[in-house]
Amino acid sequence: MRSCGSQAIHTSWSSFVNESFVVCKTYVRRADHSYPVETVMTRSTQSGASEVLAELLSKWPGKSESADLESLKSRLSTYLTADFSWSTFSNRPFGEFSIQSKELVIGNTAKVLVYDSADSQYPNLAILSRSDEGEWRLKKFLFQCASCFGTGVLLNDPCDTCGATGWGLVDWVKEQTDL
Ligand SMILES: [Zn+2]
Repeated sequence: MRSCGSQAIHTSWSSFVNESFVVCKTYVRRADHSYPVETVMTRSTQSGASEVLAELLSKWPGKSESADLESLKSRLSTYLTADFSWSTFSNRPFGEFSIQSKELVIGNTAKVLVYDSADSQYPNLAILSRSDEGEWRLKKFLFQCASCFGTGVLLNDPCDTCGATGWGLVDWVKEQTDL
């Protein structure tokens, strides 16, 4: 039996298919009763989002690739959400994109940091979404804002390049930010 507390006489772990965390309940015995004293939520280390992203990044177009949009679509659309913006592919690495962080999973959203192997200074933020069938797809791929360097703050004001999110570009036409 796994234990998550020194006082534990009984520890139960349960995980949920559609959640990305494990709940740990520790029970101690007092008189004739045992009751939970502690609940710890731990992010699971793997949800599958990073694997999907790694596979996609291995097929991401390089700086010099001249593939047209149709060939990119046939190569990559299975990895992307239906609302993925194809203009995202203008963000191309000088070297290769690679995953440089753990995945942060919140509900059905996973966030992962990706760097260009030839430019390790600035991260990109990959945002993946999990479908009802449990499959991860890339929803957004955003470079860190070069105006505010990811802080969202520019000269003591909300950064109007990224919409104060620190990532991507605010879309003034659609009146949207990426985050
Ligand atoms: Zn900014």
